[in-house]
Amino acid sequence: MSKSPRIAVVGAGLGGAATAALLLKEGLNVRVYEQAPGFSRLGAGIHVGPNVMKILRRIGVEDALNAQGSHPDYWYSRHWETGDVLAQIPLGDYAVKHYGASYLTVHRGDFHALLIDALPSSVMAYGKQLTRVEDRGNVVVMHFTDGTSEEADIVIGADGVNSCIREELLGPELPKYAGYLAHRAVFPTPQVKAGMMPFDDCVKWWSDDRHMMVYFVTSKRDELYYVTGVPVEHWDLNDRWLASSQEEMREAFQGWHPTVQALIDATVEVTKWSLLERDPLPLWSRGRLVLLGDACHPMKPHMAQGAAMAIEDGAMLVRCFKEVGVHNHELAFALYEANRAERASKVQRISHDNTWLRTNEDPSWCFGYDVFSVPLVDPAAKAVALSLIHISEPTRPERI
Ligand code: FAD
Repeated sequence: MSKSPRIAVVGAGLGGAATAALLLKEGLNVRVYEQAPGFSRLGAGIHVGPNVMKILRRIGVEDALNAQGSHPDYWYSRHWETGDVLAQIPLGDYAVKHYGASYLTVHRGDFHALLIDALPSSVMAYGKQLTRVEDRGNVVVMHFTDGTSEEADIVIGADGVNSCIREELLGPELPKYAGYLAHRAVFPTPQVKAGMMPFDDCVKWWSDDRHMMVYFVTSKRDELYYVTGVPVEHWDLNDRWLASSQEEMREAFQGWHPTVQALIDATVEVTKWSLLERDPLPLWSRGRLVLLGDACHPMKPHMAQGAAMAIEDGAMLVRCFKEVGVHNHELAFALYEANRAERASKVQRISHDNTWLRTNEDPSWCFGYDVFSVPLVDPAAKAVALSLIHISEPTRPERI
């Protein structure tokens, strides 16, 4: 038997870190190259659905995340002004029973730290910003800003929305600004006062053109997080995010329910992020290079499934390596794309339209998905999947 190919994962975000952990579980030869010198606990929360928890089970961090996160019994959608319930989607025990794992909300930094801690420090190379990648046919050479180069047999581009590896495959092209900003703030849970409703564990407040998603990010429910979607026509793509303020939030959410006002009053620090997307890519791999996550299908975060798709991608890629053999990388990549393109594009599309769980609907196709047991489709299905969905033309949601 020949030596196990050297697999380089570029980018140690949620997608790259999870993929590296899964590759290591299969005994494969992995090295992770990350541009950052290290990671800190950034001010943001994240939803982690049962579709992801099943993958975390395999990595061995499901119990630890369950202990850290908040477990909402329902996802509520509420009217921006009256607070009336527009949708009530069962999660909690229902999710465990029907989707095979829990649904939780957690601090993104805590989640990321669990994945990074699952990787031995010997596989991690920090401070390695990839500038150029050369597929020479029998080997790939990666060049970094520190002047060093490294070789690998397979390179997985998990390097986010401005992926250097996507650029090598498809040429330079900036992502599209989606016309919306997301304000993000994590802060200690405020007291409930007269005129307010008690805080739901997980709620999205909706008006016709904007929203605010709110949930706890710890099991103790002592920290709350909100993330918005607010239309803003122009954004300079040189800035990924900027500082925002309570004043800006008050202006954006003028006249909204007292509970929303209380959240704004309790805000300690708030940032605003540009929401970026791309149309589905015409190819996900070539030769020894393959993409996953935001490098491949960046999307608006309105289904709270972007990282979930990155992690599912990684798990499917590893499954395809097992299926056809890691030496057979081109076949594995074709199988991988055939089994991911349609689902990722569907999630991209719904995220773009921002209709997810706005009214009562059955989310089982999303939360019930099990990447390890879903029947595999033939790579010939790829063309069909890609022709199905384009995200540029929004469908109009019903007025509220
Ligand atoms: P990233 O997280 O972007 O990671 C890429 C990594 O690559 C980074 O560590 C970066 O430093 C590194 N890198 C980049 N370039 C290079 C280079 N040249 N060389 C080396 N390293 C490089 N998703 C959910 O599932 N649930 C949610 O609730 C949710 N909420 C969101 C809220 C907001 C406001 C936003 C903006 C996104 C949200 N998402 C959510 C989406 C999610 O954040 C992304 O889809 C996810 O982070 C993508 O993971 P990734 O690993 O593909 O890329």
